[in-house]
Amino acid sequence: MSDTIAAVATGGVVSAIGIVRISGDSALTVADNVFRVACGIRLKDAECKRMYYGEFVDDFSDTPVDLCLCVISRAPNSYTGEDTVEFHCHGSPVVLSEVLQILFEHGVRQALPGEFTKRAFLNGRMDLTQAEAVIDLIESETLGAAKNAVGQLQGVIGVKLCSVYNQLLDIMSHFHAVIDYPDEDIDEFNLQNYLTRLQSIDDELQQMLETHKRGKILKDGIPTAIIGRPNTGKSSLLNALLGYERAIVTEVAGTTRDTVEEKVLMGNILLRLIDTAGLRHTNDAIEKLGVERAFAALSGAELVLLVLDGSQPLMREDYDALHSIPPDTPKIAVVNKSDLPAAFCDSELSKLEIKSCRISALSGEGLNSLDDEIEQMFPVLWQPYEFNKHDSNAPSSPGELITNTRHAEAILRAQAGVKSAVESLTESVTPDAVLTDIESALAAIGEITGKTIREDIVSRIFERFCVGK
Ligand code: GDP
Repeated sequence: MSDTIAAVATGGVVSAIGIVRISGDSALTVADNVFRVACGIRLKDAECKRMYYGEFVDDFSDTPVDLCLCVISRAPNSYTGEDTVEFHCHGSPVVLSEVLQILFEHGVRQALPGEFTKRAFLNGRMDLTQAEAVIDLIESETLGAAKNAVGQLQGVIGVKLCSVYNQLLDIMSHFHAVIDYPDEDIDEFNLQNYLTRLQSIDDELQQMLETHKRGKILKDGIPTAIIGRPNTGKSSLLNALLGYERAIVTEVAGTTRDTVEEKVLMGNILLRLIDTAGLRHTNDAIEKLGVERAFAALSGAELVLLVLDGSQPLMREDYDALHSIPPDTPKIAVVNKSDLPAAFCDSELSKLEIKSCRISALSGEGLNSLDDEIEQMFPVLWQPYEFNKHDSNAPSSPGELITNTRHAEAILRAQAGVKSAVESLTESVTPDAVLTDIESALAAIGEITGKTIREDIVSRIFERFCVGK
């Protein structure tokens, strides 16, 4: 028996349509009391997954609250696996709140955040990776991230891990047999066979882990440090990209004392821009701290925008800033102030061996070419599923990038279990030790898919959801 829950699924703003969802054992009975189907049939006799037009009524006062559409799904063939009803009402927050109120008067209660999806998980309609993909899809900030979340919603990660899980179960069942019948030794041929299989599982987990860095960037944005000597226009660039005055811009060098961080979508790529204090030697204690933070941002950056002032000759501090960028970090020299006469030419820039782009943060000129430059540097983020022959790490289908740190951390534990099983086997340790290792790997994988997860972790996951999902 499940209690019946309801929520507005479409948010609290005025819109053309607003949807109220109900799920639980009494969903159909309650809906049947409050909805009069225009064609005269009773809602409880209606066909599943078909829209019916009718009146939502306050049955206590017998007055219509809205003229709307209603669709029912019977258990177990619904999103939650329970009987569910959706009312597609007019999107007035007042109407939707009244609809909810009337449902509450019929014993239905307000759904908690993510409770519909939690029920779907608990009723076996989806595994935990798919449930988490629902929230990732809703919250995705780029098309690439949305596509990856859809792949995960289709179960891409669950399917991969299920195969690993079954292979491990298979190996484990053999070791159980060895323990149960100690006279049966593992012969050399079988030993080699298990080692090969465990090593191939290790490789498979490693491949999944290697997608995480890219997956995190896809979901959270590329950490991008904007660096340069004072007054080149770093804060102006941040403001120009954001489209509003986020950072203070002055002619006074050393104004940006701390790092300022904002997300911005450039073309199809999400950047986590970090505006830093101008890099220079200073005796001002606060500015010094800012410069230290600038270096910290630089070391964590996956992209560096080195801002140069194109209206002044290149200075020693510009070269120092360039040399402070870690060698493997992708970088672009953003030559600012293109609205003023240029003080150095492109040939001088090419000596710096860095891609460059002339812009004016003041007028916005050149910002589109900066977009293009960044897209070219990270093609796999905006066309993540175009199979890239030159990049063996490029995912071949949506959903393969591990975007969730919880998954990556558990895969790492599963891999540690597998590696340890390989060691135990190679060193001819007792079968019990191999079993313990494989069991820990299985438990870690089970945590990802939800097979063996603890209730408190499940609750924490669904707390991230919005009400109505
Ligand atoms: P930061 O210290 O590198 O963050 O530089 P700011 O963004 O504070 O800018 C320093 C000065 O340069 C300010 O007076 C800005 O108005 C000016 N500035 C920034 N970008 C441009 C630009 O594209 N063209 C011109 N002419 N001036 C700019």
